[in-house]
Amino acid sequence: MKAAIFEAARTLAVRTDRPVPEIGPEDILVRVHTCGVCGTDMHIFEGEFRVKFPVVAGHEFSGEVVEVGPEVPKASGLKVGDKVAMDPNIPCGHCRYCRKGKTQFCENLLSLGVMIDGGFEEFARVPFRQAYRLPERLSLEEGAFVEPLACCVHGIDRAAIQPGEDVVILGAGPIGLMQLQLARLAGAGRVWVSEPQTARRQLALSLGADDAFDPTAGDLRERILALTGVGADLAIECAGLPQTAEQAMGLVCRGGKAMLFGVAHEAAKAFFRPYEVFLNELTVFGSFINPFTHSRALDMLASGRVKVRLLISHRLPIERLEEALALSRSEGSLKVMVGG
Ligand SMILES: [Zn+2]
Ligand SMILES: [Zn+2]
Repeated sequence: MKAAIFEAARTLAVRTDRPVPEIGPEDILVRVHTCGVCGTDMHIFEGEFRVKFPVVAGHEFSGEVVEVGPEVPKASGLKVGDKVAMDPNIPCGHCRYCRKGKTQFCENLLSLGVMIDGGFEEFARVPFRQAYRLPERLSLEEGAFVEPLACCVHGIDRAAIQPGEDVVILGAGPIGLMQLQLARLAGAGRVWVSEPQTARRQLALSLGADDAFDPTAGDLRERILALTGVGADLAIECAGLPQTAEQAMGLVCRGGKAMLFGVAHEAAKAFFRPYEVFLNELTVFGSFINPFTHSRALDMLASGRVKVRLLISHRLPIERLEEALALSRSEGSLKVMVGG
């Protein structure tokens, strides 16, 4: 079968003679249909992520069940021919964090596409618990969005938006555009987006943003202050940059919240004044992966409450993965999908 193997930092090999993975008794074999390219894949490629090479990356994937292990419980309902979306994060279930219900901090966390082979291959071995069946009305391509959307749902849970609260989203890439839709569903008052790329700003407006600002043309803080008088209630940083993290903290009102959602470089540092956090009772927090949010993400895609088709900018086959990785970073692209 075909597989894109990350052999070492910046060394990607596409093989066509790789054996189809053998599944364990509690696994299913999935013929991968689509795997979205995520910033994490780029970090793995660059060697900036602690992974054990060689590995097949790709953790946002969907596909069709082609084999079911003998010990997969009947009650799971999984059968050959099912369309499934994967939750790539596999908690151990028995560490201190798992036993506190905080599976995202699992001390033995394994992730498909990070520590073990993921979706940039034709057939993937998947523990049955990680597979979520897709309803008929949801396409496999949309199914590949369940994972990133589930991460966003966890963020919105953490943000605990109250009806009427004003929200500013920094960065309108695929994540920012999903957060925008979720913020509206969660009852936000007005939602504004800050994004330097024109096409992304237009997309943000079409997905329900009240306005979209170009941060390179005018002072965002002044604009938000003019619109709100005191600042937004919540800022969601979706760019993963120290500058936008600092900016987020300055856009919210007293008692406001700043969520740092974008994945910053491990060594990046941002500056803030502790006095301001004290005086304004700011809440600054992060959000990591998708604990128990996969089902809700899937349901919101299936019901059409969250739209993701517009977020796809490119579709490339596995053999062009390196190009796909570069594309996903380039201006003018949104979600790059790989498969086939
Ligand atoms: Zn991802
Ligand atoms: Zn654990």
